[in-house]
Formats: sequence, structure tokens, C-alpha cells
Amino acid sequence: MPKPIFINLYQHKNKLSKIFNRIKQKRRIKRTFLKHFLYQQNMRIAVIERERCINGKGCSFLCGKLCPVNRQGKECIKLDEKNKPVIDESLCIGCGICTKRCPTQCIHIVNLPEQLKEKPIHRYGINGFELFSLPIPIFNSIVGIIGRNGIGKSTALQIIAGLLKPNLGIQGKEATFDELIQHFKGTEAQTFFENLKEGKIKSSFKPQQVDLIPAIEKGKVKDLLKKIDTSNRLTEIAKELDIEKLLESDIKHLSGGELQRIAIAAAFLKDANLIILDEPTSFLDIKQRLKTARFIRKECSAEKSIILVEHDLIVLDYLADYIHIAYGKPSVFGVISMLKSARAGINTYLEGYLKEENIRFRDYPIQFQERAPPKQEPTAI
Ligand code: SF4
Ligand code: SF4
Repeated sequence: MPKPIFINLYQHKNKLSKIFNRIKQKRRIKRTFLKHFLYQQNMRIAVIERERCINGKGCSFLCGKLCPVNRQGKECIKLDEKNKPVIDESLCIGCGICTKRCPTQCIHIVNLPEQLKEKPIHRYGINGFELFSLPIPIFNSIVGIIGRNGIGKSTALQIIAGLLKPNLGIQGKEATFDELIQHFKGTEAQTFFENLKEGKIKSSFKPQQVDLIPAIEKGKVKDLLKKIDTSNRLTEIAKELDIEKLLESDIKHLSGGELQRIAIAAAFLKDANLIILDEPTSFLDIKQRLKTARFIRKECSAEKSIILVEHDLIVLDYLADYIHIAYGKPSVFGVISMLKSARAGINTYLEGYLKEENIRFRDYPIQFQERAPPKQEPTAI
């Protein structure tokens, strides 16, 4: 008579448990490998500064010739119709040979921070700069953005102002409002894009390069400002920004500092409830900086939101209620951090470490000396 099967299984329980454990372990390894593989696939970007590439003028497609993936017969780096290299990020294994051997160092292969899990908001072309996340304006508040140059602060402001349509990293396609609302679902950015779609937000943008204004606008300052003075506040704002004497001048004769104050006046004269200022105190001396900062602070109200990029920490500390820190690699990628209170934001910026995101964006903290370093006596050579 055959023995009941449960008795047989019980006898072999140790063997069976070993087999099950092995299967479990194999599955775990497979899952970890897949996770790692997928992460690596998504988190590495290749950026080429195309204007610096000298293919055909001193370089004969060296990157393509040395790439180990190309040497296996695949097309990881190929030339486009303009004879410039294009890297297929899905084939790139991140060996770094092309970055080291390129004579102009115009290739960047970068592993993005592990914590960066979202898709980019905007990418400038194939193998172009990528921007992740956006700053969000808040009514009755001034939101400041701080960070080094070349990491997408101005791009972020242009998207907020509606001057640049983001593509969510997909080339040749502009994201619709509905796609942006879906992308930012559950965040404050969702509300912002919903309001923008419904026409509840009217923005006024002051660009960073005010010295280029005379190339676009011609004529007397007063006439130019009057054209946009929908609220009839020209006299009041001109007095506060100390530009009364400039009103009769021709715009082409103004200095950088004068153009800056005229541009700020124009931004506030327009009929808008979102004022976007890209570096409002550059070109200004210390006295004008404080005066301008006082004016901007006074203009913030329950019906108005102000968002600005500023490098002067003292001005930013005085102006901003909240701060975003922009970090990344210049010309490669940029990330806008979560919103922080002004004090916490400036301290975090100085420290170089984003605690909430667990990201170190600078290897060293910025420290100020209480006293100027002692003068060193010149030594004879
Ligand atoms: S980093 Fe990528 S593109 Fe550059 S040589 Fe290596 S595999 Fe090729
Ligand atoms: S090695 Fe550098 S310069 Fe030469 S083709 Fe490649 S990217 Fe251009």
C-alpha cells in the first residue's frame, strides 16, 4: 500500500525548504538586477555642446571611432545631417572614453542623482541640456531662486512666464496644458498650470540681459513706458526707482544700471499678477540695489506674486519669503529643489547639502570670515 504523500513530503522537508529558498534567492537577484539595470538606463544622460564640437575641423569623429559600443558594430555615436555627433543614451554603457578623448571636452556623460526619479520638464534638443522640476510662484509672497549659472534658472522662469513651452523631454513635441497638469498631479504646480490654462494668471517678465533692450526697443524712455502703463502708475514708479531724470532720454544712451531700473519699472507697469524678474539687481550699485529691493518688496501683495532669480545673498535674504535652490551640472542638467523658507534656503545653499532630498550639490560649505584675511607681505623671489 503506498504511503500517504504528506508523510513523504514531511520526510523531505529540509530538502524542499532548501529548493524553495534557492528559487526565492534567484528571483530576488533577478529583481535587483532588473531594478539596477532599468535605473542605470534611465538615470544616465549624454549631453554634447554642439557649438564646441570641431568635427571636420581638427577632429575626425574621434568619439565615434573610440566608442567601444560602436566598435562592436552598433551605432551608439553617429553623425547627424549637420555632421555633428549624436549619442544614443540607451546604448551608451557610460565608459567615459569619449568624454576623456574628445579634444574640446564637449561631451558629458553624467549619472543623474539617484534621488531624481521624475522625467525632465524640458530638454533642449537631442543630447541637450535637461531641466528637472520647476519653481512655483505663491501669491502674497516673493519666491527667490538661487544657484550657479548654466543650470536652468532662466529656462525655468521662461517656462513659468509661458515664453517657453516645455516638452517633458520628448523631442519635437510641446506639452499641452493638460499634459503638464497630469505631469504635476498632486503638487502645487498642478494648480499653477490649471490657473494658467484658465487665464487666471497674467505674467510680466523682466529678462536677464537688459543690455540687449536697445537692440529691440527704440525711442524715448517715457514713450516706451507709457505704452505699457495700463495702471497709470508711471510717475509713482519712476520716483520710487529713481528714473525720473531718465524718462526724456533715448533708450540707446542708457547704461546697464539705468536699463535695469527701466526694465523693472516696465515689468511692474504691465497689467499682470505674476511678476518674474531674472537677476533684478545686476548692474546696480549697492545704493540702487537696496532702493530697488525696497520697491520690489513693497509691490508684493495678496493679488500679486513675485518670483525672481538673484545672486546677491543679502538682497535675497531681504526680499524672499521662500527660496528654491537650483543645482546640477552647468550646460548638462539642472534641478530646482523643493520650496524652503528664506532663512533655511540660504543656510542650505551655503551648506551645499539638501537634507530633505538627501543630495549634496557642493563638496564644501561656503564660509564667511569674520575678519578680512591678514595682508601678506610681498616676498622676494
Ligand atoms: S561613454 Fe557611452 S558614448 Fe561615450 S564612448 Fe563610452 S559607450 Fe560610447
Ligand atoms: S571627439 Fe569631440 S570634437 Fe570630435 S567629433 Fe566627437 S564631440 Fe566632436
